[in-house]
Amino acid sequence: MKLISTVKEMQGMANEVRMHGKIISFVPTMGALHDGHLRLISEGRRRGDILVVSIFVNPIQFAPNEDLNKYPRNLDGDLEKIKDLGVDVVFNPITEEIYPEGFQTYVEVKVLQEYLCGLFRPEHFKGVATVVLKLFNIVKPHVALFGEKDYQQLKIIQRMVKDLNLEVEIKGFLIVRDKNGLALSSRNSYLSSDEMERAFSVSKALSEIKKEFDKGIRDTKTIIEAGGKTLREVGITNIDYLEICDPETLKRKELAEDGDLVAVGVRLGGARLIDNIRL
Ligand code: AMP
Repeated sequence: MKLISTVKEMQGMANEVRMHGKIISFVPTMGALHDGHLRLISEGRRRGDILVVSIFVNPIQFAPNEDLNKYPRNLDGDLEKIKDLGVDVVFNPITEEIYPEGFQTYVEVKVLQEYLCGLFRPEHFKGVATVVLKLFNIVKPHVALFGEKDYQQLKIIQRMVKDLNLEVEIKGFLIVRDKNGLALSSRNSYLSSDEMERAFSVSKALSEIKKEFDKGIRDTKTIIEAGGKTLREVGITNIDYLEICDPETLKRKELAEDGDLVAVGVRLGGARLIDNIRL
């Protein structure tokens, strides 16, 4: 496992690998790796000859009032966790390597960023799309793997790839959860044990909504109320959104259909938790 920290070295290696006709698979992360990341990495191993994992906490996707400074960072721990997973390269640049002085070019996926998390984190997806495009230009992957936990992010990246004719295949993978159903997230480390107990209700709320749908109810307001109740029961009242939307356009729906996305974003203690499920 080679550790690369400069753009020049990473691009040089990617060029060389491509020249030999090898397939590069890529898993971008912000580190503080958990089993959700490890699943993507194992999938990435099977899909390429050379597997690159990036670990980079991207400052431009955080608003000034968000958790950039306290975001968990543990490179040694991360390297230890992935040492037996067949990773060929860990790309771990410092911020100035990605955003040198004078940096001023951004990419925005205009419409998809307007929904769900985008309403509460207005600059977030611009920062995500920009860094992912840069990482694609640096790592030059044939295939890149993303988690459906960040469903809106996945859709935005798929749209960007299509709109900008990028030659990279984007693959999405199911959410990895703990035994209580909580979607794994690096930010779960912000939760106290009491908050952690209450956080289980986030996925429970989604299951309750699915149950209502499975009973045959289609009016989204009625179905969603079942989930809202589950959250309120454990005192989760800071709900950014809990809604049923079209899985492609992310537009909110009034009548639910099979395959629709139920998405939730809440604030609990110092953490912002997101989760989703398909009907
Ligand atoms: P992050 O380090 O949070 O930027 O996440 C890096 C990648 O891991 C993204 O594609 C995420 O969607 C994915 N990911 C994070 N948490 C999970 C999870 N619980 N299950 C599946 N994928 C995840």
